[in-house]
Amino acid sequence: NDTNCFYETRKKIGAYDLGPTLGEGAFATVRKASKGGETYACKIINTARMNEELCTKEIEMMQRAGKHANLVSLIDVVELPDARALVLELATGGEVFERICEKGCYSERDAALVAKQVALALKHLHGRGIAHRDLKPENLLLVSDAHDADVKLCDLGIAAAPCEKLDKRVGTPGYAAPEMLLATKKKTYDARCDLFALGVILFVLLGGYHPFDPMGDASDAILASRIKQGKWQFHDEAWAKISPEAKDVVRHLLAVKPDDRWDVDDVLASPWVAGSASSKPIGN
Ligand code: ADP
Ligand code: MG
Repeated sequence: NDTNCFYETRKKIGAYDLGPTLGEGAFATVRKASKGGETYACKIINTARMNEELCTKEIEMMQRAGKHANLVSLIDVVELPDARALVLELATGGEVFERICEKGCYSERDAALVAKQVALALKHLHGRGIAHRDLKPENLLLVSDAHDADVKLCDLGIAAAPCEKLDKRVGTPGYAAPEMLLATKKKTYDARCDLFALGVILFVLLGGYHPFDPMGDASDAILASRIKQGKWQFHDEAWAKISPEAKDVVRHLLAVKPDDRWDVDDVLASPWVAGSASSKPIGN
């Protein structure tokens, strides 16, 4: 569309030189950027199309979140008449899932490492009162091309502030927690929704398909109904070769009731997440 074209062709924003496009979302274009020999990611948000309040909230959430090894941090903000640019720490390794697809051989330890780093990011965010609410593969980035590159969580675009009443369905259908789908003005949910999303991610990492959409053809309504009913299973073809310890973590994260679900500390205390997972390629 027109506006994105405008951002695609732009060469500079504030004092930053713009480079290739790294990613694209509904309201934002993320471009590589540089200034004084340093490289960054620049999330250019079209304030003409996106509610300015939302954009301000994303900045506030990032400032509140501050710095953490497993979180993309905010470095600068550039204000323009029709747009705002968030200058971010650059993650050059791309999205976690692209790497897995390229890799071919993947081990339980690789999956456990992703789970651990996401859990550490969540512990930090939740500790500051922030619920991410949009945890999904596209928002997990790798800091470099190295084999053992760290994972960083990005996109606080719909993160919720402390004390905010959480009664709205937001985020991406296949990753929404049951209690979020069932939320009403009287029945709110909390940051534990992020742990359900981590369960879906871990299921996909280990099983190679989506727990609530095994055939890849489910509508949003079907996804929601399966999520609310906890309708998923470990299909033998994919899961016979996965360890009981790994399955145990997934099962505890996909619990329908938040009270039954593992919290961040449970995840981090699990020996499988903490380091006992096998480094043998899955299936061998
Ligand atoms: P949206 O709110 O539109 O989803 P995101 O913040 O998730 O925007 O960014 C969209 C995409 O841009 C991401 O999925 C990722 O591929 C890329 N991206 C975002 N931030 C960075 C970053 N710091 N480094 C590298 N790529 C990034
Ligand atoms: Mg995103």
